[in-house]
Amino acid sequence: MQPKQVMTNCIFCDIIAKTAPADTYYEDDQCMVIANINPLAPLHLLIIPRSHIASLNDMTSADEALAGHLVLVAKAMAEKMGIAEKGYRLALNTGRGGGQTVFHIHFHLLGGKPMDDSLLSRGIA
Ligand code: AMP
Ligand code: ZN
Repeated sequence: MQPKQVMTNCIFCDIIAKTAPADTYYEDDQCMVIANINPLAPLHLLIIPRSHIASLNDMTSADEALAGHLVLVAKAMAEKMGIAEKGYRLALNTGRGGGQTVFHIHFHLLGGKPMDDSLLSRGIA
């Protein structure tokens, strides 16, 4: 396996390295799932790969298995947290225009209330 990419001055790399705190729901050799510090729904988790990949624009075919793993971890977390039946949102903001503010790729898993279009759209031009 390739050594994991780590970036200094990246809050999610710090959380992965456990030098910054997080409310951790799950972790494995490829990713961590933490609570969002500023939740937009009753359940708002972040699925974060251990490797520092800035955004979806930086993923390549070498990351195909990782991308699939992150999606399946999100599905498993939705089941574990009891929101799978009612429904939930899995979001991947990409670039500033896509609403991305932390440039270490991550999925948002949102649930616990009906989703509408106001979620994840905070008026970024
Ligand atoms: P995005 O805007 O898609 O890049 O999402 C970044 C998310 O990370 C935001 O929803 C923030 O609330 C969240 N966030 C930033 N810092 C932390 C942190 N230290 N712990 C947990 N969530 C964080
Ligand atoms: Zn990082």
